Amino acid sequence: MPFGRAMTGRMGIGVLLLAAGLAACESAPITGRSRLAPIGDQQLRAQAEQLYQQELSKHTLSTNSEYKALVERVGRRIAQAAETPPEQLWRAPNFDWEFNVIDEPGVINAYCLPGGKIAVYTGLFPVSRDEAGLAIVMGHEVAHALMRHHGERLADQMAIATTTTIGGAVLGAIIGGEDNRTTGAVAGAGLAIAGNMLLLNFSRTQESEADRVGLILAAHAGYDPRAAVGLWQRMRAANSGSGRPPEFLSTHPAEETRIADIRRHLPEALQYYRGKEE
Ligand SMILES: [Zn+2]
Repeated sequence: MPFGRAMTGRMGIGVLLLAAGLAACESAPITGRSRLAPIGDQQLRAQAEQLYQQELSKHTLSTNSEYKALVERVGRRIAQAAETPPEQLWRAPNFDWEFNVIDEPGVINAYCLPGGKIAVYTGLFPVSRDEAGLAIVMGHEVAHALMRHHGERLADQMAIATTTTIGGAVLGAIIGGEDNRTTGAVAGAGLAIAGNMLLLNFSRTQESEADRVGLILAAHAGYDPRAAVGLWQRMRAANSGSGRPPEFLSTHPAEETRIADIRRHLPEALQYYRGKEE
């Protein structure tokens, strides 16, 4: 028999890696964009949970009850919107949502890790200004997680690693070589990258997608998506001249392009806002 147990096991690992790195493509929900299938959500969520706890323990959490209540309220509504997709636009993520406020007045930032682990820095509040402004930012961040952009970014990176440096070894393992250590190293490299999920840079395409989907989430949660125009204008003004840009500005196209894109997507988002006006 050519396919003994050890052989199929080894093939399984190799095929999995190749599938993750090279072969599997899919259409992203909502936008229909063709992309590499993101790295599996379950494993990523365990990593994200660990990273989130580390981050929270490294920073001082805010004791400002007003900020905490605001983030909790807006966050719950955005989360509820994500978990109840209108017209089956996407699959409910079934996240284990968590919200925290980090006390750093100089940092204009927020993030949502896979699994719904959200942090908002206190420096964001003067810029987000009101509840609708915060909903736009949180909608954008949740959209990254909902669209599985972290896993997609990791799949891209693993594909590059596989094709450039270790692809030959992986192929060798599939064909029947003995190099289990190499396949172990590939899996290890993937996990190492996943451990730095907060350092991933999203692509411009993903940022635009998060803007569009974030508007839908905010609208579906009952917030006026038109608040996005002023929000991103204030964000740009607040950020000019500062150091490392916040996540949502780091790789984004020019401000004019972004505002124009948002205006273009507003009619779509407004469909989900109608009847929910506050
Ligand atoms: Zn973003």
